[in-house]
Amino acid sequence: MSSVLTLNQGRVSQAEHDLRVDLAAAFRLADRFGWSQLVWNHITARCPDNPNHFLINPMGVRWDEMTASLLVKVDVEGNTLEVIDGEGLVPKAGFVIHSGVFEARPDINAIVHTHTDDAVAVCALKDGLQPICMEALFFYNSMGYHPFEGTSMDTDERTRLAKSLGTNRAMIMQNHGVVTVGSSVGEAFVLMYWLERACRIQMKVLASNLPWTTVPEEIANHYSGQEDEPRDITDDFRPGVHEWPALKRLLDRDDPSYRGL
Ligand SMILES: [Zn+2]
Repeated sequence: MSSVLTLNQGRVSQAEHDLRVDLAAAFRLADRFGWSQLVWNHITARCPDNPNHFLINPMGVRWDEMTASLLVKVDVEGNTLEVIDGEGLVPKAGFVIHSGVFEARPDINAIVHTHTDDAVAVCALKDGLQPICMEALFFYNSMGYHPFEGTSMDTDERTRLAKSLGTNRAMIMQNHGVVTVGSSVGEAFVLMYWLERACRIQMKVLASNLPWTTVPEEIANHYSGQEDEPRDITDDFRPGVHEWPALKRLLDRDDPSYRGL
């Protein structure tokens, strides 16, 4: 396999190269699943060689055309550090949302932020996401809520965003969109898959105009515990563990150009 490392005379470490490939894969897969919105919204990953740096999609690039080398490296203060390919302009709102989370949560290495129809619809509901299906239980007692402040262009909002997310694995930005976080690109991506499905199911249930039930609290708590503590590999439902390698194989079969350099 060719690599950024080779093409750029060693400017990028092997660890960063591998992360760039994973992050580019996340954009391609997100587009494939219908999560992209023209050239907007963002998926980011913390750089392995410096926790104060992260990779983000540059302005004006469609998610279906993302490659490892197009991703831009910035620091948490907003300085652009590394542009390997393309124009490398960093979207301000993306910087504000993602840098706030990376600064506040050293345990987080990847963030996905989307505006799909069903997710935004749930973001507009007064009571947010409801525990009505297994997909939603991934976020039981682990969902933050952030009041709408307009497009996130004010760096002051970073502190409030971090507080709204808290120690949760996802956040509903009210009247705006959703965020998932993870210790890896695969984990954040697969959590967004479950959140997207949960939102779609909830809106279908509401559209049915029929009475609905929620999962009892005791069962919801038990389910969450099962996911956190797999007994062995056959009951390991931790997001990304089994799904992420399989999803990358899908891309490699159909179009490996996301690795592209
Ligand atoms: Zn947004």
